[in-house]
Amino acid sequence: MTSYKTGLNFALELDKTDELSHFRSQFHIPKHKNGEDCIYLCGNSLGLQPKITQSYINQELKDWAELGVEGHVHGENPWLSYHELLTDTMAEIVGAKPIEVVVMNTLTTNLHLMMVSFYRPTNKRYKILIEGDAFPSDKYAVESQLRHHGIDEKEGLILWKSREGEELLRYEDLESILKEYGDEIALVMIGGVNYYTGQFFDLKRITELGHKYGCFVGFDCAHGAGNVKLNLHNSGADFAIWCSYKYLNSGPGSLSGVFVHERHAYDKNLNRFTGWWSHNKETRFKMRDDFDMLPGAEGWQLSNPPILSMAAIKASLDVFKKAGMDNLISKSKKLTTYFEFLLNELNHKSIKIITPINNNERGCQLSIQVKNADKSLHHKLTDVGIICDWREPDVIRCAPVPLYNSFEDVFNMVEKLKLILNGK
Ligand SMILES: *Cc1c(COP(=O)(O)O)cnc(C)c1O
Repeated sequence: MTSYKTGLNFALELDKTDELSHFRSQFHIPKHKNGEDCIYLCGNSLGLQPKITQSYINQELKDWAELGVEGHVHGENPWLSYHELLTDTMAEIVGAKPIEVVVMNTLTTNLHLMMVSFYRPTNKRYKILIEGDAFPSDKYAVESQLRHHGIDEKEGLILWKSREGEELLRYEDLESILKEYGDEIALVMIGGVNYYTGQFFDLKRITELGHKYGCFVGFDCAHGAGNVKLNLHNSGADFAIWCSYKYLNSGPGSLSGVFVHERHAYDKNLNRFTGWWSHNKETRFKMRDDFDMLPGAEGWQLSNPPILSMAAIKASLDVFKKAGMDNLISKSKKLTTYFEFLLNELNHKSIKIITPINNNERGCQLSIQVKNADKSLHHKLTDVGIICDWREPDVIRCAPVPLYNSFEDVFNMVEKLKLILNGK
């Protein structure tokens, strides 16, 4: 455990000894009105653009211009198999085997596709368990699946809620729910890292619990991928989904990753929606054959994918590969613990960190509750060049990202917050 000190010099010292500090210059950092870099702490919402992204996209524009349809086969990175260029690094980032991972569609779409396979309600087992404060899109998607199967959403949805006066979820409460309703629950679907509190769940523990009661278990890792060590394969989860535009820096609305555990890789009886891209690559273009399912996560693909978005993902993954997930997580823990230290040093009675204190139960995000604050606090922060986000009623979420944030960023953020809280 590093011991931290206050003062700008200490932050500068930490930056000097940070072996990943040079990655910051490989990103476009938005500028504040005075022309200085913003303090960008919003990588949990939209990650910054790597400088190499433009050339990766330009390469595909060039091949399209020069080759037209031939680019599918003769492009620098042939489009037919482009998604395969992403698989190994993506699998490594989320701790999965390549056969378990594919990049396709967008996140909520993939959640639905996964539920087609892993939410198969019967008369007796038809409920879905999610977190009490699940991300709205996930909740809406799950409710619509219930309705799709003719199940009343109030009857079919079970919420794992925090206790009165608490923010974080407790595993013993999950256990009680499963003990009581386990044989009625078809699917347990939890956010790997809760978007609001930043609580990083024990995926393996939740999976084992769910499986013990005969439920399928899936995770939405939108706030986990590229942020924490997910170890999806070892967790044993049936499926997971995540987007690539938050910590994975692949641009607004970019594509989603999907994990389907190896144990389902060859199961042709698992119901699914299919298209020509889930069909055997060798005979895909004969166009007449009976459906011949691709094994693994690729067997859930529907369409030929948007290459320009994939190029942005490839650029980002190449940066991740250079930095190394383990190095990033090690810096991330230092950076966020330093952030927490400075906030505690502030010793300001109106702020409370609701994210877990334990480094292994969170990623880089800290959710800071500010008593009696309203959105004007967020405006004041933006005004002094701090980009973070505001969640009603009174929480600011700040994510110092190890790839491009510095210890100096964190120091300056807390200094500016202090001035604002003290009305200066
Ligand atoms: C960001 C996020 C989404 C967004 O879904 P899209 O389909 O990419 O718009 C959904 N769920 C969670 C948990 C998220 O964090």
